[in-house]
Amino acid sequence: MEKNAKIYIAGHRGMVGSAIHRKLRALGFDNLLLRTSDKLDLRNQQAVADFFAAEQPEYVFLAAAKVGGILANNALRADFLYDNLAIQNNVVHQAYVHGVKKLLFLGSSCIYPKLAPQPIKEEYLLTGLLEPTNEPYAIAKIAGIKLCEAYHDQYGCNFISVMPTNLYGYHDNYHPEHSHVLPALLLRLHEAKAANQPTVTVWGSGKPMREFLFADDLADACVFLMGSYDDPQLVNVGTGEDLSIKELAYLIKSIVGYEGELVFDPSKPDGTPRKLMDVSKLQALGWHHTTSLEMGVRLVYEDFLASCSGQ
Ligand code: GDP
Repeated sequence: MEKNAKIYIAGHRGMVGSAIHRKLRALGFDNLLLRTSDKLDLRNQQAVADFFAAEQPEYVFLAAAKVGGILANNALRADFLYDNLAIQNNVVHQAYVHGVKKLLFLGSSCIYPKLAPQPIKEEYLLTGLLEPTNEPYAIAKIAGIKLCEAYHDQYGCNFISVMPTNLYGYHDNYHPEHSHVLPALLLRLHEAKAANQPTVTVWGSGKPMREFLFADDLADACVFLMGSYDDPQLVNVGTGEDLSIKELAYLIKSIVGYEGELVFDPSKPDGTPRKLMDVSKLQALGWHHTTSLEMGVRLVYEDFLASCSGQ
């Protein structure tokens, strides 16, 4: 990508899009095209067509999506399927119509079968049943990957797909029910510390294993792949290391400085038992994450405290 190339970041206010935005700015890209969802509803086919016709972006990072944690995915099944299909159909198709030089589509590790062998290689896609709690979201993301592949095969478009593992970072969603585990526990433990609560509830058994990647590291990988990878075959992005939800809860507890007890609530769903990405393809291309989980959680908690004191 040339430094003055016109680059559209779809979803620039979300956790991933804002990290890509920061990264591109830091690297000196200054012709960035941004639209908030109240100015451009990416589910609206005509609005997206008009936007591409008027702006003619050269590169697209497709980081806009309806996202949420295990309960949101399960409760808002229609919204997760419809909104994500509509957003990606509109953006990918208009990128083709307007000759975008390269598009990067962001998926998620939940596209892989619930019981995929671990660590999960890219070729395990569509080899088994999905985790039921996030099946609508996963089906939409799988359709997005296949859309990018099909536009590559039929029209020669340079559209690539990147599958990040579970993410956390700045501008995360702290909704008490709809967020992901890491921001949910950060908020709950922080509030319990402030209120001197004797116990904090952690959903599920604590046994599921999860891998976590700092969103700024993902942004770095996306910019790296945008510059160096032209294959329609998807690429996993992760750290290659995981831990149990129980270990994660104790890590966050120590960073927040909460001194009460953790109580596990087995009435809440565990979801997939394990989803560790095989990142050997990405590492062979020359990319490696740089932020350890402990460092990343510290950075996020500092940012969280700063935003609390700023309010
Ligand atoms: P998942 O990776 O798609 O299952 O997404 P989540 O981040 O929502 O959940 C990961 C794991 O953390 C699941 O086993 C949850 O049951 C567990 N978990 C523990 N406490 C919480 C919580 O407060 N919120 C969420 N979302 N998950 C939690």
